[in-house]
Amino acid sequence: MILDGKMCSSKLKEALKNEVVAFPSRPKIIDIQIGENAASEIYIRNKGKAANSVGIDFDCVRFGVESTEDEIINKIKELNEDETINGILVQMPIPDKYDYKKIINTINPSKDVDGLTYVNSGKLLNGEDGMVSCTPAGIIELLKFYNIDIASKNVVIIGRSILVGKPLSMLFLKENATVTVCHSKTSNLSYFTKNADILVVAVGKKHLITKDMVKENSVIIDVGINRVDDKIYGDVDLENVKDIATITPVPGGVGPMTVTMLLYNTVKNYKENQKKLVLK
Ligand code: NAD
Repeated sequence: MILDGKMCSSKLKEALKNEVVAFPSRPKIIDIQIGENAASEIYIRNKGKAANSVGIDFDCVRFGVESTEDEIINKIKELNEDETINGILVQMPIPDKYDYKKIINTINPSKDVDGLTYVNSGKLLNGEDGMVSCTPAGIIELLKFYNIDIASKNVVIIGRSILVGKPLSMLFLKENATVTVCHSKTSNLSYFTKNADILVVAVGKKHLITKDMVKENSVIIDVGINRVDDKIYGDVDLENVKDIATITPVPGGVGPMTVTMLLYNTVKNYKENQKKLVLK
C-alpha cells in the first residue's frame, strides 16, 4: 500500500483554509534566504504557493553573501516585533561564513515555525507544547491519518540530524513506540531495518534500503530526496519494496506533509496571538 502524502496534505490544507477564512486578518510567513541556491528557490516557490492556497501571505526576504551576520540578525529582530508576522524561517543551507545557530536562535520561539530554536527543541525534549519541526510532525500526522498504530511498535529511524532524526525520535517516544536511531556509524544496518515495524529513512542516498532489508508488512517512511539526472528518488527502492510493505512515495509522500505542517505552525501562532488579544 502507498501512503499518499499529497492527498493527506490536501485534506489538511482544506481544513486550514476553512479556519483561516474566518480570521479577521491573514496570517503571514517570512522566509529568509541567504546567498543563492537553485534548489532553495524551488522550495521557496512551493511554500509560497501552498501558503497562498490556504489564505496565508508569504514573503521572502533575501540577503546576498555580502550581507553581515548583524544585518540578518537585526532583520529577524525587526520581524520578531512585527505583530502581522506569524512565522519566520531561514531557508537552508546558508553559506558557511554565517553562524547558523546564532541566526536561528534569534527567531522568537513562538514564530519559529520550523521548530529549530533551542527553546522549541528543549520543549520537545521535555514533552511540552511548542513548535515542532515540520518534517517529523508531518510524519506523525501522516501515520495518524492512516490510523497506523504507533504505541508499542518497534520504530527504527535511519539518520540523526537535528532537522529530522533527532526530533522524530522524541515524537515517537511521546507516542509510546520503542525507538532505535541508526546513523552512518551503525554496523549491520539490515539487522535493525529487518526488525522495524515502522522504518523511517532520512539519509539522502538513493535506494539505500532494498527489499531484502525490510520486514514484510512493515510501514516505511521515505524522507530522502535525491536528484539524479533530473529525476527525484527516495532513499528506499520503492518499486520493489512496495510489494511487501506500506510505503510513502518520493515525491508525493513526506514532502507535501512538511510544507503543510509549516502552514499548521503558522496558524497555531496566529491563534495563540488572537487568544492573547482577547485576554488583554
Ligand atoms: P543530514 O545530511 O543532516 O543527515 C543524514 C543522516 O544520515 C546523518 O545522521 C548520517 O549519520 C546518516 N547516514 C549517512 N549515511 C548513512 C548510511 N550509509 N547508513 C546509515 N545512516 C547514514 O540530512 P537530513 O537533513 O536529515 O536529510 C536527509 C534526507 O532527507 C535528505 O535527502 C534530505 O533532502 C531529505 N529531507 C527531506 C525532507 C522532506 O520534506 N521530504 C525534509 C528534510 C530532509
